[in-house]
Amino acid sequence: MNSFPAASFPPWVVLHLPHDSVEIPAEVRGQFLLDDRELAAELTRMTDHRTLSLFAGQEASTSAAAIVRATVSRLVVDVERFEDDEFEAMAARGMGAIYTFKSDLKPLRRSLNAGEREALMAAYYRPHHAQLEAAVSAALEGHARCLVIDCHSFPSVALPYELADPRASRPDICIGSDEFHTGTALANAFVVAFQREGWSVGLNTPFAGALVPSSRYRKDPRVSAVMVEVNRRLYLRERDAAPLASFVDIGNRVRRCCQEALATSGL
Ligand SMILES: [Zn+2]
Repeated sequence: MNSFPAASFPPWVVLHLPHDSVEIPAEVRGQFLLDDRELAAELTRMTDHRTLSLFAGQEASTSAAAIVRATVSRLVVDVERFEDDEFEAMAARGMGAIYTFKSDLKPLRRSLNAGEREALMAAYYRPHHAQLEAAVSAALEGHARCLVIDCHSFPSVALPYELADPRASRPDICIGSDEFHTGTALANAFVVAFQREGWSVGLNTPFAGALVPSSRYRKDPRVSAVMVEVNRRLYLRERDAAPLASFVDIGNRVRRCCQEALATSGL
């Protein structure tokens, strides 16, 4: 049963894709303390590979939803982190908005001066957030509501930086919620939709939270948010990030679950 066309979301949905890109701009490459092989391996481990295609579908341009996708790898700048390290818990592990450590907690990047750091934020972080703010404002103006779906994937085995037990089994899907921006009905609708598809689902485990643009964060109740994280074992050969033969089917199922959750969320 599929009562929704693929890649069809209402126009008040914003798909946020912070970790889809593998792009390392030439002017940033020299900051990394890794040779090409090591950098490629870190990109394989840390990128949420093909999440644009997974969540938006092959015909992303026909979707009514706004799509806000980071244009550079999270190793360049992680737009999912707070701009100010003071508020970012991951900064203590060298993984604030600008990473200095790799996923194995070994050095990634030489130390940057304040000007270099500011240049990265100005080039890659702030334009991304301006685009997200604009997409959310447009949805509110046009439809008086907005749902930001924060779209991710995660490795089947915890990476060292997560400080989680690598032997612990992980669910197929993780739904993340925010206490202000994710109502119980919304969170439950996403959990139930993915469970009905036959997948195991964790709520705020192994990852928690959902991203909201900072001007609306904990202030504007018209902005709803939910995070959807797909276990990469469902759609990738994780050692080299090659898509599995089932990739297209998994994407169709992920989008159908999101659409069914929307239909039952009460939004
Ligand atoms: Zn991610």
